[in-house]
Amino acid sequence: MLPPTAAQVPPIALWQGICRLFDGKHVVERFQSEIVSEFGARRSYLLSSGKAALTVILSALARTSTRRKVVIPAYTCFSVPSAIVKAGLEVSLCDINPATLDFDHTLLEQTIDDQTLCVLPTHLFGMPAAVDTVMSICKPRGIAVVEDAAQSMGARSNGKWSGSVGDVGFFSLGRGKNLSCGHGAVILANSPDAATILDGEYGKLAEESWFDAARSIMELAGTNVFIRPPLYWLPAGLPFLGLGETRFYTDFSVRRMTDVLASTLVGWRQRLERLTQARREQAVGLIRQIRDTAPEVTVLSAEDAAYLRLPILVRDRRVKERLIAQSSERGLGISGCYPAAIHQIPQLQGLIGNGRYPGADEVVNRLVTLPTHGFVRPGDQIRICELLRGLHAHEPIGVGMEMSSPSPIYQTSRGPRT
Ligand SMILES: *Cc1c(COP(=O)(O)O)cnc(C)c1O
Repeated sequence: MLPPTAAQVPPIALWQGICRLFDGKHVVERFQSEIVSEFGARRSYLLSSGKAALTVILSALARTSTRRKVVIPAYTCFSVPSAIVKAGLEVSLCDINPATLDFDHTLLEQTIDDQTLCVLPTHLFGMPAAVDTVMSICKPRGIAVVEDAAQSMGARSNGKWSGSVGDVGFFSLGRGKNLSCGHGAVILANSPDAATILDGEYGKLAEESWFDAARSIMELAGTNVFIRPPLYWLPAGLPFLGLGETRFYTDFSVRRMTDVLASTLVGWRQRLERLTQARREQAVGLIRQIRDTAPEVTVLSAEDAAYLRLPILVRDRRVKERLIAQSSERGLGISGCYPAAIHQIPQLQGLIGNGRYPGADEVVNRLVTLPTHGFVRPGDQIRICELLRGLHAHEPIGVGMEMSSPSPIYQTSRGPRT
């Protein structure tokens, strides 16, 4: 059974982590300075998770302003509104363009106002969002730009790294992200103001404990074994592990990363480059085959994308549900990703108004992601493409065009945890 995403950790990296349980020092500082030089940031900070990183960024921004609204895409990871609520701020949604999964920029201009603290362009699945466009809309109005690069470490656009263009950017190092150490995140402070306010906020945080670090190393070792296709059925079948769960919750911890966990990132530049290169090759192969065999499928692609997964749009919700069911029978790693748009999250009702987000609704109904990691073999790609072709061929046109119906699979989706 193929996992929807996978970022392996070499055994030597795990060994480093185990050694650092006993003598780790200054590993975080070294990693921070490598990040700064690679991404051209002013400062970098290491946190316990992407949601923790976003919470810290938002708290720091809120300290310097009376504005309270944070504008995010109506289709994104549930951790994003979780962090906004945790930071005590207001979620403000902007619809997306289903063809790019990026903001609809005309709507973005109408969404922002004099209460907008910041806007989060989001590089979903490693596809670069148009950050320059967002900068040109936001900068004249004094609105900060925070790049959600949680899924796009290693992607570039116009020769610039994802995460390095906005005032601030962050990468997740969680399971299933581009580069992983189990859980964690990197913040890039790109503007001088951002570096100043984040220095203050970061200084106040506690580190994860030694016990947490030891547990993290064990989890990482376990993930490394069970992420392999011959064994992945086992954790995938254990509901208490919460694999593939997409949840809204605010009781997560906000801590600095330990030296122990950071030490498992040894050789991260080469590792990231290798993983990204392999994902790109998989994606290019899939794109070519899909164009030949299943032209009804809309492939979403972009030059220099990091392709954490390959997003495609199928004809309608009915095709999507059949595809996911058949993929899970065959262990092909195709995932429906987020089970709902942000305005459909029950815990946010009453907090975000009654706007309509047809672009996000369409994506919820039609988007699936194909696996691009190194465990996918050529035979798997062929089986994925055959499944895509078969589903569209046998479905009579005009049946099941309920494109904007609300999501009935909200609680039960088994997409990857992202
Ligand atoms: C994963 C993810 C996050 C949160 O990162 P965690 O490390 O899982 O907390 C935020 N935004 C997006 C788009 C993500 O995919």
